[in-house]
Order: sequence, then structure tokens, then C-alpha cells
Amino acid sequence: MFIPDELKRLKPMTGSERLGAMRDSEYLGAEDLDPDSNPVLTIAALYNGSVTLQRGKENKDVIVFQEDSVPGIKKVRPLIVNATNRKTLRKLYKAVTADALVGKRIELFLDHNVRDPSTGDKIDGIRIRARIPSAAKAEPIICESCGREIKAIGQFSAEQIAGINQKRYGKKLCGECSKKLNEQAAQETAAPAEEKQEEIAE
Ligand SMILES: [Zn+2]
Repeated sequence: MFIPDELKRLKPMTGSERLGAMRDSEYLGAEDLDPDSNPVLTIAALYNGSVTLQRGKENKDVIVFQEDSVPGIKKVRPLIVNATNRKTLRKLYKAVTADALVGKRIELFLDHNVRDPSTGDKIDGIRIRARIPSAAKAEPIICESCGREIKAIGQFSAEQIAGINQKRYGKKLCGECSKKLNEQAAQETAAPAEEKQEEIAE
């Protein structure tokens, strides 16, 4: 095995580090997405103008995102909007104006059946999922007692349950942990009452 001197100064990739994830490019490409990931991003701004692509300069619409890094994309870059993704955006948010889209969240995935316009080959392309990402999925709220994700119960969202328990117990707790605390509190208030009864009986 021959390793050039300059490589000896670098750290070898290990574990889940992936070829292509750290490539240098101005715009988001299929290589940036981890396979089978569903990264969720927030639209920060829309741009239009002449951008530099591999095949030269072209006039394009571009979405810039708020996030720098999310699960599934190590380095978030602006996304050049193609016709398919523009149609999906219109379906999701009824319009493709800056007013309608800035601040909105989208979920991306890899489509393995995109036709390369120059070769006709099937290649991977970035697609916007035709559903609005749910808030709960993007940021799980963790129970401060058991460390598990707080789940929605009945009509209450995870966020509401965390909020109620924050007020009641000073901690974000899951349903099970708050139930345990509730039962403990009930036992503690029940115990002195029993003692009183005994006193009366004597
Ligand atoms: Zn818990």
C-alpha cells in the first residue's frame, strides 16, 4: 500500500463517513444525501439568476436553506429547483412565490430513476417529498427523567405534554414518567390521612 505524503497528514474516513459527502460544490447534489435518508430543511430565501453548473452557466431558481447541517446531509448547500421539484412545491404550498415558501419546511429524498439529459442513463436526483414534514419528526423532545422520546397521547401532542409537565414538575417528562410522579404524590398525600384516622381510632 502506497500512501502519498500529503495523505499521511489527513485522517482516514471511518465508520459511517461516506465518499461524496464532503465534496466541494456550490449547490446541493445527490451525492450530498445519505442513502435512504429523509432530510428536512427550512426554506430561508429564493434566488433566481445565472448559476455555474458542470455544463456551463444557466439561468436557474435556487432555494437557500436555514440549516447548515441536518441528519442525512452533512453540509447543506442551496438547491437548484428543477421542474419536478417546482411542481411538488406548488402542490405542497399552493403557490411558488417567495411569500408562500420562505419559512416553510420540505423533506428531501433520493430518486434513483432520474434520466441524465446528456447520456440518457438513470442517475440519482434530489426530489422534494410530496408531503409537508411534521414538526414532531424533525425535533424529538426527550424526557428529562427516562431519556426516551416524549410521544403524543390522545389529543395531546408531544410538545403539549412536555409543556404541561414542565409547568407541573419543572421538567419535560414523558407520559409514563409523569404518571409515576403523579402516583407517588398521591401516595404521599394519602399516607398522613391514614395516620390521622388511626389517631382518631385510639
Ligand atoms: Zn420518561
